[in-house]
Amino acid sequence: MIVEQIWTGNDFRNFHYLVVCPETGEAMAIDPYDYALCLSVAKDKGWDITQILNTHEHFDHIGGNEGLVKATGAKVLAHKNAKRSIKGMDRGLDAGDVIRVGRTVELLALDTPGHTMCHVCLLSKTESPSLFTGDTLFNAGVGHCKYGGHPRELFRTFESQLSKLDDNTAIYPGHEYISNNLRFTLDREPGNTRAATLLAEVEDQDLQNPLISTLALEKEINTFFRLQNPNIIANLRESFPDLPEDPDVETVFLKLRELRDSW
Ligand SMILES: [Zn+2]
Ligand SMILES: [Zn+2]
Repeated sequence: MIVEQIWTGNDFRNFHYLVVCPETGEAMAIDPYDYALCLSVAKDKGWDITQILNTHEHFDHIGGNEGLVKATGAKVLAHKNAKRSIKGMDRGLDAGDVIRVGRTVELLALDTPGHTMCHVCLLSKTESPSLFTGDTLFNAGVGHCKYGGHPRELFRTFESQLSKLDDNTAIYPGHEYISNNLRFTLDREPGNTRAATLLAEVEDQDLQNPLISTLALEKEINTFFRLQNPNIIANLRESFPDLPEDPDVETVFLKLRELRDSW
């Protein structure tokens, strides 16, 4: 499996991906908002885009569908309940569905509600797994729930699915937000030296060749995976005096999400 990460440089800071079968050159474009950019990368490399995968229905993820379908005839795949919001959807995905690209690539669809209620993440069935996370999990952060989502569902997705994946899973998010997210981590947990070191490393990173984090790294630097950390809880109790000394992980997640909304 070849993963081509494409930095758009647009105001939304989108990352697009081409997931390619090395044997046949068939490619699936993930969230190709800037479809012309995806097309030009595919053309340069000699790849054929035959499928489009939308992780969810927000316009900066689906806005390139029409142009890319016109140019390539690619089929559009998305969450099975996104039919009404994604025009021209060809295949609705359920949890556990397998998406094939060419002869060699298989990706597993995960039903991951929270950012919206029609969100899928894709997990590659490779020895060293890759996870395409859309707007569910970002480097050092999580998606907001302001436009069609629910924080409680997002917590459940993290708790019951994402946190259980292999630690060596590579994380490929839909947007580049790492520096700002690390600042939030440090705001909540000033003693997190791993986050501080990483922030210094990524602040001026080349976005054509950015850091690819893993789930293991996220568990060190992403506040939303650190729900039992005593410093995070102590700081949270300053913002929310009613919070018990030993709050459950769901409450911690929800309070962190609430703080992040206005941070
Ligand atoms: Zn979104
Ligand atoms: Zn987005």
